[in-house]
Amino acid sequence: MDILTGLLIWSVEAMTLAVLLFSRWFHERDDFYLTWGCGFALHSLGVALVALRGDIPDFLSIQIANTVIFVAIGLWIAGLLQFDREPVQGFVAIPALIWIAGMLLDPIRENFANRVVLYNAAAMVGYAIMIGTLVRNNGPSRSTRRFMASFISVQFLANGASAVLAVVNRPTSFATAPNAMWLFFPAAFCFVAGIMSGAKLLTERSEEKLKTLAVTDPLTGVLNRRGLIDEFHGLRIVQKAEKPLIAFLHFDLDGFKQINDRCGHQAGDAVLVAFSQVGQTSLRGRGFFGRMGGEEFASIVRVGDMIEAASIAEAIRLTLKRQVIAAGEHRIKVTVSAGIALATAGEADLDQLLSAADRALYTAKESGRDRTAIDTGAEASIIPAADRQGEDEAPTDIRANRQVAALKRLTALGKR
Ligand code: GH3
Ligand code: MG
Ligand code: MG
Repeated sequence: MDILTGLLIWSVEAMTLAVLLFSRWFHERDDFYLTWGCGFALHSLGVALVALRGDIPDFLSIQIANTVIFVAIGLWIAGLLQFDREPVQGFVAIPALIWIAGMLLDPIRENFANRVVLYNAAAMVGYAIMIGTLVRNNGPSRSTRRFMASFISVQFLANGASAVLAVVNRPTSFATAPNAMWLFFPAAFCFVAGIMSGAKLLTERSEEKLKTLAVTDPLTGVLNRRGLIDEFHGLRIVQKAEKPLIAFLHFDLDGFKQINDRCGHQAGDAVLVAFSQVGQTSLRGRGFFGRMGGEEFASIVRVGDMIEAASIAEAIRLTLKRQVIAAGEHRIKVTVSAGIALATAGEADLDQLLSAADRALYTAKESGRDRTAIDTGAEASIIPAADRQGEDEAPTDIRANRQVAALKRLTALGKR
């Protein structure tokens, strides 16, 4: 087999990959599939033009062919950036620009050995950018990314070797380049290995997506019941000496059925979405918030004491209460009741916490809704709250002081 036959086989392989990537793009609509698909299609075209050297005009087989190959490398890098959800920047064009600049210089354009050196230098720049993009990202698939980067590094070194050999041997064509065949094999190996690790990267991304879907509530985008339970187990075992307790906060919107009946199911959905945002933002990353089902939500947080858990629940309750939710022509005000249960993190049992929080929630509902109750062992106690002391017109600092006073009473309650 000569090198030109090898190149034609290579070109067909690249085109097959391009077709696969286009069909993936057609189904999934992720931009990087399209970009990589275009990259492989151009790569295939460029390699085919090189393989036809002698049968087609040199301008096509040399200048155009290699420009197309470097644009393809730029597209591979661009696809990688899109895969990482980063903006595609101008530097992806550098390899192609190096080649085009070289072609404007007679001593390079007219000399085979010089062209080989330039080609390999431009390719090395492209592969170096690719390697950098791969290893810089420390997110998921870290080991696959490093694996892929290592194959590209071999290709990078092979390009370096080709450039050196061209300088030393000054070949005048592929036929007279004595080591061209030797360098063809590492390149073919890297190409296939790089593609296989790329496929692994895609599989890992799909798995990650499925995992996220399995633990996400589709309407509100917060964790679903399963996601919350998973996080509970993680949060239970984490070492946090200053926060020895795990709190389960169970929320149930008040009179939600009426909202559905009066304003329609869609407005009800808007309320669920709005409450999810309240829950999520009020927590500010201190714990997890999710939807247990229907109009019931929950939050799990590591806390130092009962007061901390109570203030989180109260902050969520009061934020929702002050909000006017817009849904079509409706302006909806809604309240929520909460039930809290606590346990020492290491010994916490999910079923016990769930039923204790549920009992507390029931107490909150029974006592008139729009309030938080906490399970304190035998029975649940209503948390003394700032907003039930007729101070709605009071300035914020007075309200805050009242909340502190109310929480102090709660401490006394906890110590009983
Ligand atoms: P309470 O104050 O006692 O909690 O009364 P409630 O009306 O909130 O409680 P109830 O359990 O009677 O009603 C819950 C309603 O939530 C009934 C159900 O139709 C509605 N619901 C459940 N899931 C969804 C949903 O995804 N979207 C909408 N819009 N409504 C839902
Ligand atoms: Mg309910
Ligand atoms: Mg309800």
